[in-house]
Amino acid sequence: MSTSPQNSYPPAVPPVHPVPARGSVRGKPASSVTMLPVRPDWEARVAKVSLDNISLSYSTTSGERLVALENINLEVKAGEFVCIVGPSGCGKSTLLHLIAGLHQQSSGRVLVEGKPVNGPGTDRILIFQELGLFPWLKVGQNVEFGMKMKNVPKGEREEKIQHYLRLVHLSKFRDSYIHQLSGGMRQRVALARALAAEPDVLLMDEPFAALDAQTRDLLHDELERIWAETGRTIIFVTHNVREAVRLGDRVALMTFRPGRVKKEFRISLPRPRHIEETEVAQTAKEILSCLREEINKSLDAEYNDGKRG
Ligand code: ADP
Ligand code: MG
Repeated sequence: MSTSPQNSYPPAVPPVHPVPARGSVRGKPASSVTMLPVRPDWEARVAKVSLDNISLSYSTTSGERLVALENINLEVKAGEFVCIVGPSGCGKSTLLHLIAGLHQQSSGRVLVEGKPVNGPGTDRILIFQELGLFPWLKVGQNVEFGMKMKNVPKGEREEKIQHYLRLVHLSKFRDSYIHQLSGGMRQRVALARALAAEPDVLLMDEPFAALDAQTRDLLHDELERIWAETGRTIIFVTHNVREAVRLGDRVALMTFRPGRVKKEFRISLPRPRHIEETEVAQTAKEILSCLREEINKSLDAEYNDGKRG
């Protein structure tokens, strides 16, 4: 019988974001807590994902050209947690699909560690709201699935299943079916499945949008902890500005059609943060005032069938 040690899979990237242990006063760790948030010098760190002057147009069913993204320049550093916010329809999902290699840009370059993206790869994994879990497989088998496809040897698969289910606190549910789990637990299965593929970059597309506030808050804590422990690079899309401030090292705000990066905000509030904290609310308010104009444009387009002006 294999007895895998707790940390049989050290992270591919060393953790760079120690988060104070749970139980410490939020943002004000007791002196016994040595894991103070260390602010890395982001500018000096290597770029993991670079979007170099990206534009993308879709052709609509009526034959028109819709410019979804225009001249997007964004650099995400290794180990950074970047949130992208913007109104519905501004091209957030399109942007993640480009990085995932599921779409092709019309012009510009998507680079991962300096190399152009030419399609999907196991170094980048997309997690979205619908999750795409297999209802006919048990939790453990869902986590195992991608590894099986990659011909990971059985022993190694077994250790990784155990490791990543432990990381998301679902070890006891290994033999449950997906329909037996709550929404939050399903999200954690999806997270474990993505992490088991050991991607460098996690691309998350509004993953918590359908959850109740309490479950979402718990998942914020979990995700932050997992990010700190694994050192992954996370690009997280949301339309919820508070969520972005709660989670991100940086928030990039997009304009409505064509999607451009309007402004970037560096968030240096101490971790762990909480969505209801005054500082989080204040920062979110600042960003929201910048976003409001774009939301109005998006509502205008929606309520006027896109015929504005
Ligand atoms: P967001 O995720 O910010 O809501 P999307 O990236 O889904 O925005 O979409 C950006 C814009 O591109 C929207 O106006 C949407 O209608 C359009 N769009 C998305 N996918 C397609 C497609 N396959 N064909 C045509 N238009 C699309
Ligand atoms: Mg979307």
